[in-house]
Amino acid sequence: MSTESPKYIFVTGGVTSSLGKGIVAASLGVLLQERGYRVTIQKLDPYINIDPGTLNPYEHGECYVTEDGAETDLDLGHYERFLNTPTSQANNVTTGRIYQTVIDKERRGDFLGKTVQVVPHITNEIKRRITKLGKNKDFDIIITEIGGTVGDIESLPYIESVRQLKWDLGQDNCIVIHLTLIPYLATSGELKTKPTQHSVRHLMESGVQSDILVCRTEHPLSKEVKAKLAQFCNVKIQNIIEGRDAQTIYDVPLLLQQQDFDQVVLETLKLEAKKEAKLIKWNAFLEKHKNPKNELTIALVGKYVSLQDAYKSISESFVHAGAELETKVNIKWVYSGELTQDNIAQELSDVHGILIAPGFGDRGIEGKILAAKFARENNIPTLGICLGMQIMAIEFARNVLGFKGAESHEVNSQTPYPVISLMEEQKEISNKGGTMRLGNWPCRLSENSKIKEIYQNQDIVERHRHRYEFNNHYLNDFKQKGFIPTGINQDTGLVDVLELNDHPFYVGVQFHPEYSSTVISPHPLFIGFLKATLQNK
Ligand code: GLN
Repeated sequence: MSTESPKYIFVTGGVTSSLGKGIVAASLGVLLQERGYRVTIQKLDPYINIDPGTLNPYEHGECYVTEDGAETDLDLGHYERFLNTPTSQANNVTTGRIYQTVIDKERRGDFLGKTVQVVPHITNEIKRRITKLGKNKDFDIIITEIGGTVGDIESLPYIESVRQLKWDLGQDNCIVIHLTLIPYLATSGELKTKPTQHSVRHLMESGVQSDILVCRTEHPLSKEVKAKLAQFCNVKIQNIIEGRDAQTIYDVPLLLQQQDFDQVVLETLKLEAKKEAKLIKWNAFLEKHKNPKNELTIALVGKYVSLQDAYKSISESFVHAGAELETKVNIKWVYSGELTQDNIAQELSDVHGILIAPGFGDRGIEGKILAAKFARENNIPTLGICLGMQIMAIEFARNVLGFKGAESHEVNSQTPYPVISLMEEQKEISNKGGTMRLGNWPCRLSENSKIKEIYQNQDIVERHRHRYEFNNHYLNDFKQKGFIPTGINQDTGLVDVLELNDHPFYVGVQFHPEYSSTVISPHPLFIGFLKATLQNK
């Protein structure tokens, strides 16, 4: 144990959304880890959904799944990828969850006849959720990112909770980093500080003083600009950090470190640095990432491709595995909804590998099936993830086994060949939220399989998020024709991996390897897929 009680850092956003609070929080986490502290990062989301599991990816980007099966905000993916440590349900809290807990308590009579109010009942529950992460003494520092922008109506209870915590825990144990934008006016050639002044003042009206400002800017902040910000925002000049646009998100920890961001944060928290931040592994990754020796193009076939955040963990997994193999991976985003017999060859002939993406519902399914067929017949290395694996099975059933009309029950409940069917335990479930097969499940890999060679392990654990499964009624048909189930859950018999004989790489996995790839520890399956693709190029 390093410190008596944990320290809390809040990251708030001002002026506009999409400034990259998640990346700043994750980068700070990396730097503080490097200084010898145990860090975790939490996201508070002000929306009323219980979790993002039921949200359309177009609304909120990818839904990220933790080991313990929580469906969470995509920022948790950044936290894990940067910090290389798992998060859990406790790391993502929404307003919906807060209210649900308080209302459940009210129904049980826990409030003993009192009027239940935003202050103190909702704010107490928010504070309980924040400090819960510090209770087991697993962490020295807890970074909490507050979603939304200061001034939003729905963030008010969170800001009030921060104000109270600063008071409850003491100013040195609880600090606020405000991320803001310094716009550049091209006509006058000036950086403008006024929006930041207003945003900081807005926080102050709620009783919260920012301790550190991270200022997103396209141009360097001059001494004068910093002095002005310091004077009008009550922030020490050395606590004003420039957040210049970076070439890659993985540069951000270094750019912040160059300005002693970690030192400033530690001093504000009255903590000593325990070691120098050398970032050896991080720099080694960046070195390889920026100096690739090979190049590959992978088609990502999915239906949410117009919002690339919908596949964030997949695209980042390619960055990690690509760096490991000193290979630049270009992603060609292919919308499955527009793939047809006529354009499939044209769309996919210029790529070296294909990833068939996860997804839900019936839109874009036929395009994915065409892509799977094209990849199988043309020996193009292909990885299918979750729905992607199910698509591979459907395509194989239709075109190799001759099961005309084979389909997933998700798409057609009347299909004569339901090669993908609803899992037994799902049959009684009607609620959509949080009820899929979620989180970590074990899987045993077969001897002499590609997948076992890739993992170098017989027993693996991977994260899941699905309701449908491969229908074991067809297991022998598949085996006989060479599409082999090489990963099976030993308790349930669920098929978690299918791989095709006599193909350079045609592997479908029911789980989501992309959730557990990190900068320091790229995922073996992505490495294996890219290796096969390089060999086949
Ligand atoms: N829709 C499919 C299922 O529920 C696949 C889910 C996914 O790709 N995450 O089984």
